[in-house]
Amino acid sequence: MTRAIELSFLIWFGVCDKAWVTLAERLLIRNLERDFFRTPVLCFLSFLIPPFAKAGNLAIIPRCTCANSLKPTLVVMTQPWNLAQSNYSVVKDHHYEVAVLPFGATEPHNLHLPYSTDTLEATIIGEHICRAAHLKGAEVVLLPAIPYGTETNMREFPLAMNLNPSTMTMIVADLLETLVHNEIYKIVLLNSHGGNAFKPILRELSAESEAHLFLCDWYQTIDDIYYDIFDKGEDHAGEMETSFALAYFPDLVATDANGKLRADDGEVRASRFRALNEGWISITRPWHLLTKNSGAADPHWATAEKGVKLMDVLMDRLSEFLVELSQSQIDDEFPY
Ligand SMILES: [Zn+2]
Repeated sequence: MTRAIELSFLIWFGVCDKAWVTLAERLLIRNLERDFFRTPVLCFLSFLIPPFAKAGNLAIIPRCTCANSLKPTLVVMTQPWNLAQSNYSVVKDHHYEVAVLPFGATEPHNLHLPYSTDTLEATIIGEHICRAAHLKGAEVVLLPAIPYGTETNMREFPLAMNLNPSTMTMIVADLLETLVHNEIYKIVLLNSHGGNAFKPILRELSAESEAHLFLCDWYQTIDDIYYDIFDKGEDHAGEMETSFALAYFPDLVATDANGKLRADDGEVRASRFRALNEGWISITRPWHLLTKNSGAADPHWATAEKGVKLMDVLMDRLSEFLVELSQSQIDDEFPY
């Protein structure tokens, strides 16, 4: 799209609050690095368009910097879909239908991924899907991630920081109550940690609360196309998680001097019981007996490209759900 056409669109959509916000966000963010909006004319125009200021999504602030002399600079001030990055002036006027609450963990991931892996995954996926949903019209807010999870089966590893399931229940219950007090009744738990068992929590809290709870264990949303993207199976710190890390937080992935991952092969031990190995009987697996260095899948097939493909699928599927959820009326038969 040429600059002239983009400018025309911006002015035209100035008459329509929602369309303006959506289009402006797309164009402004897309053009941030192109210097296009660093023009006094456009900054002046943006201040004249009331919905722009009212929505508070973005602000163009003329400011002087050493590098830019007197050129106005576009600054993305706040994003209403992201509570951690929003201020009160935005939130007090914004209506939210859906809240997304991410859950991570603090635990080892083989030798190469950071302890914050699950929390970063939950946060980054939350940011991508909520932003995409917002741009498609969803009234959604991403809450800050809870950085701890249930680690009772990792306790022999140093500083695997545990919250018992009973504590997790209380955390969810308290935050749920806060959301209901704020008249947000559609709540999505975005879980990144396999040790977090939310289903019993949903069963307990759904009976007590006006809110409708939805659980997304994001790593299960791609089961049907997993092997279209990846070569090896995933359990913990394997190809999928490492690909995600290489794509979205590569500076925290440890490699040796040759660029090879500083990780073992993620092989796990079999139990002495056939019933456990076959899955007929399950336990909470003691991770220090199961693994060599906490990794429970082969990470060496990981690439950043696979991580981006994973995110594309998650964004498509989960943002679509958030839009539908936001637009759906709660009635007696909800969600059917
Ligand atoms: Zn993980």
